[in-house]
Amino acid sequence: MPLYAYRCPDCSDFEISVAMGKAAGSLPCPACGTPSARRFTAPNLSRASSSAYRLIESTKRSAAEPAVVRSPGPAPRNAGGNITTNPLHRKLPRPD
Ligand SMILES: [Zn+2]
Repeated sequence: MPLYAYRCPDCSDFEISVAMGKAAGSLPCPACGTPSARRFTAPNLSRASSSAYRLIESTKRSAAEPAVVRSPGPAPRNAGGNITTNPLHRKLPRPD
């Protein structure tokens, strides 16, 4: 969920995580209760293509709303057969 920034005229800025599009234009300050106007900030687009940022985002997202798995994944290709196709692995010792 995105963070929305608010500025209390008496204290300082604070941020609240609300569902997209559900942020109110004004919220009471958590410290003093003074109505605080929403601050409009630039969206954080610079790291959107980085795989590390995507991992962080998906981790945050799954904490709030876990991904739902509706069916088990496809069966493994080598179910019951050889685990590996490398012929050199046949020479490895086998468990008894
Ligand atoms: Zn305040």
